[in-house]
Amino acid sequence: MIPVRDDLRALEGYHSAQVDVRVRLNTNESPEPPPAAFRDAVAAEVSRIEWNRYPDRTATALRAAIADLHGVDPAQVFAANGSNEVLQTVLLAYAGPGRVVATFEPTYQMHAQIARVTGATVVEGERAPDFTLDPEEVARVVGTHRPHVVFLTSPNNPTGLVEPAGRVEQLLAIAPGLVVVDEAYAQFADWSALDLVDEDRPLVVTRTFSKTWSMAGARLGYLIGPTWLVAELDKVVLPYHLDTVTQIAGRLALRYTDDMNERVTKLVAERERIARALEDLPVDVVPSGANFVLFRVRPGPLDGREVWQGLVDRSVLIRDCSSWPRLENCLRVTIGTEQENSEFLEALTAVFAAAASDARTDGVTV
Ligand code: PMP
Repeated sequence: MIPVRDDLRALEGYHSAQVDVRVRLNTNESPEPPPAAFRDAVAAEVSRIEWNRYPDRTATALRAAIADLHGVDPAQVFAANGSNEVLQTVLLAYAGPGRVVATFEPTYQMHAQIARVTGATVVEGERAPDFTLDPEEVARVVGTHRPHVVFLTSPNNPTGLVEPAGRVEQLLAIAPGLVVVDEAYAQFADWSALDLVDEDRPLVVTRTFSKTWSMAGARLGYLIGPTWLVAELDKVVLPYHLDTVTQIAGRLALRYTDDMNERVTKLVAERERIARALEDLPVDVVPSGANFVLFRVRPGPLDGREVWQGLVDRSVLIRDCSSWPRLENCLRVTIGTEQENSEFLEALTAVFAAAASDARTDGVTV
C-alpha cells in the first residue's frame, strides 16, 4: 500500500446502509418512477445518439431548458453529474488549500467532505438544539473565520428545516466570499433563494433531478449563479463530463413539470400525514419542508439505533442518524408511496408496542 495524502487519512467517506428490505425509505429518492411518456421519449432520442461522438461539451440544449424553467440566462446555468458534482466543481474553483469553507451543523455531510477533499479547511458553525440557526452564530463564524465559501442547505438535510430568507440575506450582507444555498429539496418547501441570484451577488443556488424529477439513476444536478462564476466552473470541470444520455434525459424531463408538481403535492400531503402520526408515538418530530422527516426517539426502553433495527427486522429501512454528531437518537424517514408510509408507521408503532410489552413483562416477578 502507498500512503494517501496526509490530510485525507482521517476521512471516512460517505456511508448509507443498504439492506435488502421490502420498504426502502432511507435515501430521499422519489418513490415513483418518472412518467411513462418521459421514458418513451428518452428511449426514442437515445436510439438516435451518435455513440461514436463526444457529447455536446457545453450541454447547450439542456442548459437552455433549465434556464427556461427558471426564467434565467443559459449562461447562468451550470450542470453536472448530480448536484454533488456541481458542489465539487464549485469547491474545486473556490475552496482548495489555504481556503476556508464554513458549514452550520448538522447539515448535509458532503459539503464538509468535498471541501476537505479539495484541501480546504472546514469550520463548523453550530445550530441551536432545535436545529434552527441563530443569526449571532452566523455573524460569529463569518466574522471570525472569513470563509471563502459558506453553505446553507434549505430545506436542510437531515433536519428538514427550511432556512428563513433572512438567514440567506444576512449571509449575503456579511460574507466575504461565495454563498452556496443547496436546494436539493426546494420543491417541497415554500421558499427558494433563486430570486436572489443576480450578477452582483456572490450567490449560487444548487438543485438536483434526483428527488422531485424521479431521476436519481441518471445523476444530474445544476446550479443557477452569476455568469462570471459559471464561466469559472466551465474551466474547472472535466471536458465532456456530462454524457449525452443524461443531457437528453434532463432536457426531456422538464417537459413533464405538471407530473412533477403532482408528485410533489402528493408527497407533501404524505409528509404531513407522517408528521401527524408520529406525534402519537414517543418521538419528537422536526418540522420538515422536504421529502423526509427527522425524528428523535425519546428516552425509554429503546434508543434510536434499536428502533432502527426493529424497523429493519420488520423489513423497513430508514436512515439511522443516531450515531452522527448532534443527532443522538435521531432517525430520518424518506416519504414514500402511501402504502410504504403506512407500512412504516405500522412497523414503528409495532416496534414501540413490543418494547413496552417487554418492559411490562420484565417488571413482573415470576
Ligand atoms: N444536497 C443535498 C442536501 C442532498 O441531500 C443530496 C442528496 N442526498 C445532494 C445534494 C446530492 O444529490 P445529487 O448528487 O443526487 O444531485
